[in-house]
Amino acid sequence: MQTGKLERMKLYKDPNVQVLLSKFLSGEISELKPAFNPGFGYRYAEVEAILGGPSKVEDFLDRLYEAKVIERRLYDKILYCPSCGSQNISTHYCCPYCKSFNIQKSSLVEHVKCGYMDVEENFRKGRKLICPKCHEELKKPNVDYRKAGIWCTCKDCGKSFDIPDTRHFCRECQAEFTFENVEIRDVYAYTLNEEVRSEITAGWIFVAPIKEFLIESGFEVEAPAFLKGKSGANHMFDIAAYRKEITKKVAVMDVAIAKEVVSEQPVIALFAKIYDVAPDSAILVAIPKLGDNAKKMADLYNIKVVEGKNVKGITNALKEKLFENS
Ligand SMILES: [Zn+2]
Ligand SMILES: [Zn+2]
Ligand SMILES: [Zn+2]
Repeated sequence: MQTGKLERMKLYKDPNVQVLLSKFLSGEISELKPAFNPGFGYRYAEVEAILGGPSKVEDFLDRLYEAKVIERRLYDKILYCPSCGSQNISTHYCCPYCKSFNIQKSSLVEHVKCGYMDVEENFRKGRKLICPKCHEELKKPNVDYRKAGIWCTCKDCGKSFDIPDTRHFCRECQAEFTFENVEIRDVYAYTLNEEVRSEITAGWIFVAPIKEFLIESGFEVEAPAFLKGKSGANHMFDIAAYRKEITKKVAVMDVAIAKEVVSEQPVIALFAKIYDVAPDSAILVAIPKLGDNAKKMADLYNIKVVEGKNVKGITNALKEKLFENS
């Protein structure tokens, strides 16, 4: 989980990732679907526009998927020509005897009353269906007659069969090939992982302006910050702030966002980290506010709480809390 978040934090700093995610966040893209272009195969136009071309699209989407920023669902399977690699492939249904794709597909019709069965063409007389055996007219489907299946006839060798062979034809290089030779790859449609939506909002909408405010107030800031604990483990905080003149004083901050009330969970997570890192002060920024139980817990753990609905409210509250005892 922590490594996943670390990888995501790195990705969020990539301007190309920011452009794509802002399209998801704004609703401009709800699902990223590929569009098929016969000459090129499947393409993600929105991502190509961001990256400036098709060559890095697959890598880009794979990285975001592996870091769980986006989720995917199987959208299609692409068939590749084994000779030239083109995705411009058609399917031929062929005669299993002579392999010709010049076949006639017909329905088998059974006259219920007399039991006679033949292909539909042999019943057809103008616009009517007449039984070739007893010469009665077939009027009501599923009463007078029923469709008894599919029957194919090869126009080249004249043989009949019910299940054709499936073969593929490359429209680019005219190669013909079968299932055994075809290359198949999965194609995906992507959506934003809902669990990282608040992580992104926290990172972009709140962490960036808080960082800016701290720098303007004379702090040195790292965001995200990786601090080594007594145990030797590295811990990530959304923000770490140092005073230039008092270099040993460090304040760490995590930003937690909830729709209405932030729960105990981010308090516990922050406590576990500061227990190991032992910073001079720890602040939890709760947007819009922290729950009552979580507040009691924060008090117990000596975690300062800053609440606010917006950036202005938070930076004002922060001013008072930062190093208030130093
Ligand atoms: Zn080909
Ligand atoms: Zn044939
Ligand atoms: Zn009949």
